[in-house]
Amino acid sequence: MAIRNVARLGSPVLRQRAREIPVDEIASPEIQRLIDDLFETMHEYDGVGLAAPQVYESIRLLVTADLPDPDDEDQLLAPSRVLINPEIIFLTQEETARWEGCLSVPDLRGLVSRPHKIQVTAFDRQGKRIEFEAEGFPATVIQHEYDHLDGTVFLDRMSDLKSLSFLREFERYIAGAADEDE
Ligand code: ZN
Repeated sequence: MAIRNVARLGSPVLRQRAREIPVDEIASPEIQRLIDDLFETMHEYDGVGLAAPQVYESIRLLVTADLPDPDDEDQLLAPSRVLINPEIIFLTQEETARWEGCLSVPDLRGLVSRPHKIQVTAFDRQGKRIEFEAEGFPATVIQHEYDHLDGTVFLDRMSDLKSLSFLREFERYIAGAADEDE
């Protein structure tokens, strides 16, 4: 396993539509190593998710971390996942606004509204088809990472740039005042 370099905003790879992975390539050593590297890189930089284009691999693969319940750290809201060629269906029109950050847009936080509940279909790292629903914070994380596969970053999703804050100022003026996930 290895910690990969993370592409920062301005790198063309972050603005491209990533290609699908042929199912018979999922078991290949290259893809399996990339999955391990995504987890190691995500953990190294304290991310909750990471998409392959963020490490300069323009393919439709993302990982998410174990997401603990903010009200009870012993409970998981969602387990860590590997999603290959994922598809998302919105299960509600209802949107939730959350503070988002991104390893490719370092040291910034911004408020983004996204559908609250989604259905996800994808292949896992064994090449098995999986389908599940996600709601709340895990749904936000998956939508954020999915956007990277289409060349979109959270700044593009902000309806009002006035909430954009540097991390230090966010922690100083906002995080203390609100009950936050990040
Ligand atoms: Zn991101």
